[in-house]
Amino acid sequence: MKIAFIGLGNMGGGMALNLVKAGHEVRAFDLSEAALAAARETGCDTFGTAREASHGAEAVVSMLPSGAIVKQVYGEDVIGHAPEGAILLDCSTIDVATARELAAMAEARRYPMVDAPVSGGIAAASSGTLTFMVGGAEEAFARAQPILAAMGKAVIHAGGSGSGQAAKICNNMLLAIHMVGTCEAFAMACKLGLDGQTFFDISSVSSGQCWSMTSYCPVPHVGPASPADNEYQGGFATSLMLKDLRLAQTAASEAGATVKLGDVAAMMFNDHCVAGNGNLDFSSIIQTMRDLSCNSKCESITTVN
Ligand code: NAD
Repeated sequence: MKIAFIGLGNMGGGMALNLVKAGHEVRAFDLSEAALAAARETGCDTFGTAREASHGAEAVVSMLPSGAIVKQVYGEDVIGHAPEGAILLDCSTIDVATARELAAMAEARRYPMVDAPVSGGIAAASSGTLTFMVGGAEEAFARAQPILAAMGKAVIHAGGSGSGQAAKICNNMLLAIHMVGTCEAFAMACKLGLDGQTFFDISSVSSGQCWSMTSYCPVPHVGPASPADNEYQGGFATSLMLKDLRLAQTAASEAGATVKLGDVAAMMFNDHCVAGNGNLDFSSIIQTMRDLSCNSKCESITTVN
């Protein structure tokens, strides 16, 4: 299948490669020359504009930074330029309202469209093990499913347009909250004289266990390998977590939902970003608690700054 791919950054680069590996003809575009050169190396055909990449494409996939950019790219260069009937799949994390508006705009011009944001970071994008949560009509989902399956381990239909984005921001708000809770529990355990590994051994098989504890432990060299073991490099950037929490706050206020813990988490990740940690993995938020409640016994929680 001829698939246009727009946005070949940390995530999109690996995703486009997996479409090539699955035998698709990938027509790639990015504003960055370096990203285009890397895409050529992996077997994509590259183009000078999103419009050229979309010409003749049976599907258009995008992985872009924000709703405003997604809207601009589809509005100016995809809708009306890709062949009528091409399936449009936006995998970026954007606000629910823009996702719905875009799908309506696309469908009015006879392009089925899905919002298909992902769970899983750069490593999952490269290895083709992302989880896609998909919003759109049944027929659009049926057409999008095999394309997404080439880039992920799970493709789940969440409901109508915007439902994929709704699932994504609810999931990431929960992730932020349980990461903060996990960090507070470790920092407090240390303050109370418990060894980090011992607390992990107990809590990871007790009722406090959660993904942030068992699969992504914020304490270095405790639990399975995680960015904490690598001075919080790689993984999921604090700045991206803050972006998702902001999207969650906007969606909550539009829907009239109360998200008190989500608001607190947003404030904490904002402060962590402002302190210059935006590029560190989000589990590095544990460093903000060290001075508050962690004593010298917890030497493994070091300060990066
Ligand atoms: P990135 O900044 O690495 O990549 C974005 C790419 O889009 C860049 O290469 C940039 O040059 C390109 N771009 C920007 N404007 C463009 C335009 N008008 N036309 C064409 N290309 C354009 O970001 P990323 O980490 O790959 O994230 C992409 C999306 O995936 C975001 O919405 C992010 O929230 C989401 N996401 C990221 C992760 C992660 O771990 N990085 C995880 C889940 C979801």
